[in-house]
Amino acid sequence: MLTKSLSAIAAALVLLICSGNAQAPGGRAQRTAEPAHLRASEVGWRLAPSEQQYAAIDGQHLKQYVEELCAISRRYRDAGHQFWGRITGTEADAENAQWMLDKFRQIGLRDVHEQTLALPPQWMPQSWSVVASANGKTLQLDTAQPTYLAVGTPPEGLNLEAVYVGLASDADLALSRDVKGKAVFFYSTDLASRHAPIADNAIKRIGDRGAAAILVIQGLPGNEKTQFYPVNSPVPTFSLGQKDGLAMRDFIAQAGAGEARVKIMLDIKRVPNLKSAMIWGTLPGMTEENDIVVAHRDGWFEGANDNAAGVATMIGMAEYFAKIPKEQRKRSIIFLGTNGHHDNGAESGAWLLQHLEVFAKTAVLFNAEHTGGMDTAPTSGLLSNAPAAYRWYGTGPRLAAIVANAMDAFGVPSFPQSSPSPPGEIGRYYHLAPSVEIINSGFVWHSDRETPETISSTGLAAVTRAYAKVIVDTNALDLKDLRTAQMPK
Ligand SMILES: [Zn+2]
Repeated sequence: MLTKSLSAIAAALVLLICSGNAQAPGGRAQRTAEPAHLRASEVGWRLAPSEQQYAAIDGQHLKQYVEELCAISRRYRDAGHQFWGRITGTEADAENAQWMLDKFRQIGLRDVHEQTLALPPQWMPQSWSVVASANGKTLQLDTAQPTYLAVGTPPEGLNLEAVYVGLASDADLALSRDVKGKAVFFYSTDLASRHAPIADNAIKRIGDRGAAAILVIQGLPGNEKTQFYPVNSPVPTFSLGQKDGLAMRDFIAQAGAGEARVKIMLDIKRVPNLKSAMIWGTLPGMTEENDIVVAHRDGWFEGANDNAAGVATMIGMAEYFAKIPKEQRKRSIIFLGTNGHHDNGAESGAWLLQHLEVFAKTAVLFNAEHTGGMDTAPTSGLLSNAPAAYRWYGTGPRLAAIVANAMDAFGVPSFPQSSPSPPGEIGRYYHLAPSVEIINSGFVWHSDRETPETISSTGLAAVTRAYAKVIVDTNALDLKDLRTAQMPK
């Protein structure tokens, strides 16, 4: 009896001590007692003697580029754009193109030029708002963010009954009130998705039942704005931060059946005659052969990992190889900042597919994309001190082995199996050359929390060093041996 109550007291004490490390909203810890564990990362922080030459690639230095690119996004936001980031076709696009041209010239690349791309009319939400009301009370949902290509509302907005349908599975919807003509809120635990199939195609299921608006409550801890890719919804569709979403769920419950309403305004313009560009620069080598490093320039919100980190990796590689005597550079290295794919057009990819000659003598095509995301706890949102595990790809077993060896050399945390194909920017043309990609996406991906703070400088350095090592290691192989039948058709 005594032992029992003693252990109960002990358990209560443990609880007390543990809750001293209280969790503030937004995923920041309020530390009370123990000192913070400040080491930047658990992995990849000490170079082996055999890899000392790669110490010149410095993570803190690369992270400075991430900061500069994120600042371009913030300037665009602060100029009064509710839909913000390094958005294709805007001033933020032009500013980061100029930034890259300047960097290429400072590094001393040759044939630095900008190649203009005409854009089809671009989806540009001008302004929006989502405000609930019931029984004289209102609730403003500030984290509402329209899914890309979402349809707008009439100028006077929509005024709809609001319903909550749980996880929006068939079971939830069968038990819910009729959703026809209503604003339908559902909760998603599909935390990594920013895509149409979220929660087993919940958006389609709700749309098929005649909803007039759809709002996804993103179950990410905190209250983030997240930008979704197109979700093919016929009605205005938004994502919502968890805090706002749960407040709305409770608002609907307290109002009582049929009482909560929501006013939705979404003003969309399709802006014609905008332009973007691909930014090229070349570091000449001793042969006609080349390696190509691609990094997409666009991004939503600050886009620290997607894709300021990838751009920083590309610039870091240019700096590294520019300092190596030309006689030691077997192949030219072409650096290519593309306009990207968030505008759903991927105009650079289309251009490259019409210019197959670009890849005719390419030994390795690198995609520098999402190279530094830090891991966060899925349940609390707390930032860790290590990069999130990377997915990776190398065309064919020989190149894949070279990539795996390079990741091991610098402690790149990864999944054991390579990806079946490289996701992201080179997805359209990776079959044209032997390709390499190392990419990660934390839970903050495509959200307004994807800030420089969420970038691991050691992860950034580790992937950039791994790419540099792949260039050096593949220099030992003949072009024809790299470009074998292993390339996908
Ligand atoms: Zn990306």
